[in-house]
Amino acid sequence: MALGEFDLIGKYFTRPARRAVLGVGDDCALIAPNPGQQLAVSCDMLVEGRHFLPTVAPQRLGHKALAVNLSDLAACGARPLAFTLALAMPRVDEPFLAGLAQGLFALADAHEIELIGGDTTAGPLNLCITVFGEVPPGQALRRDGARPGDALWVSHPVGGGLGDARLALEVFRGRVALPGDAFDTVRRAMECPQPRVVLGLALRGLATAAIDLSDGLAGDLGHVLARSGVGARLVADALPASPVLAAQPLALRRECLLAGGDDYELLFTAPAGAQAAVQAAAAQAGVAVSCIGRIEAEPGLRVVDAEGRALADAPAGFDHFRD
Ligand code: ADP
Ligand code: MG
Repeated sequence: MALGEFDLIGKYFTRPARRAVLGVGDDCALIAPNPGQQLAVSCDMLVEGRHFLPTVAPQRLGHKALAVNLSDLAACGARPLAFTLALAMPRVDEPFLAGLAQGLFALADAHEIELIGGDTTAGPLNLCITVFGEVPPGQALRRDGARPGDALWVSHPVGGGLGDARLALEVFRGRVALPGDAFDTVRRAMECPQPRVVLGLALRGLATAAIDLSDGLAGDLGHVLARSGVGARLVADALPASPVLAAQPLALRRECLLAGGDDYELLFTAPAGAQAAVQAAAAQAGVAVSCIGRIEAEPGLRVVDAEGRALADAPAGFDHFRD
């Protein structure tokens, strides 16, 4: 007989509370942020066919559902504390649940956070996680702090770049063909993003504004510019690309770099003189950062090539209700 709702919560999603005052099993969970800290709260939903393909391994789905939420805490410079999971699935599939829980808890353990509650229901496959973090008052990284003259930075894997997740999606769509090992690399970027939590913490007091890249660089940068009331000059040729993406034709490369979603890197601004401090923060976090442009007073986004010539038809970001 298939497992019931409460048995499956007990078997796959209940572990002893360590840091939480009260974890899974009551009407509310109780968590105690450290004294004087503010709570940072964020929620991200993953819908099958929209945010992930049915072909994704359950472990990777569990990882990604939590990773995209931790990425939001990273973008705010918040330290993760705990999370809840709301899960809808068409039927009880134990191998799926076991894999999902494995991927989810592996990433949770890596960040020393715990699952404190949630909701479980039958329905189309859908995962919604809410993360809770903490940040000292006044120290959260926000979208509205970019100032003219600031340098524009983006994080990326050491030896890698942006846009690989989008390239993988184009392979799944049949638009691009890649050799097996190259496909594995970009597929991993799409399915196993690494949230830049340590970098976010290291950028407190240093970055003037930050956002995580989920819907494409150009669109996400647009949010920072709008909230900050500034513009930017972005050097397209300065955008970091992995060897696999760098081998693609220019138009596809630019599309993946500028408009590809699912990067989960941090885009941030910092005073022009803070270059050494930014590099030190990245080294501390074990990631690479590249300076990709600068903030200007004139509103709007100007995408230029290495010679400073404007790119006429720079690709835009992703909008769930338009694209
Ligand atoms: P209620 O009906 O009081 O809202 P539920 O019966 O839905 O509570 O859930 C029972 C307990 O199991 C609660 O503590 C809830 O937070 C927890 N829970 C439910 N689903 C999950 C899940 N997917 N992961 C973790 N905890 C869960
Ligand atoms: Mg209840």
